[in-house]
Amino acid sequence: MTNPRSYPQPAVELAAFVDDYLYGCSPVAGCGVCTALSAELSEARKANDHGTAYDTAAEIRNHPHPAKTKP
Ligand SMILES: [Zn+2]
Repeated sequence: MTNPRSYPQPAVELAAFVDDYLYGCSPVAGCGVCTALSAELSEARKANDHGTAYDTAAEIRNHPHPAKTKP
């Protein structure tokens, strides 16, 4: 390395990892509740309302859906 860094690495990767851990979820396409919660989640994140964002992501993760039967 010809130009050694004299400051710590930016925490961007860690922040992204933590964000995904806290707020990662997979809203189900076509599910009205998931769609509404997903909108609520992005609003809360925009507003830096981390508590609401976390709760909303958890709701999406825990939203029950009937198992799809394979054709
Ligand atoms: Zn759903």
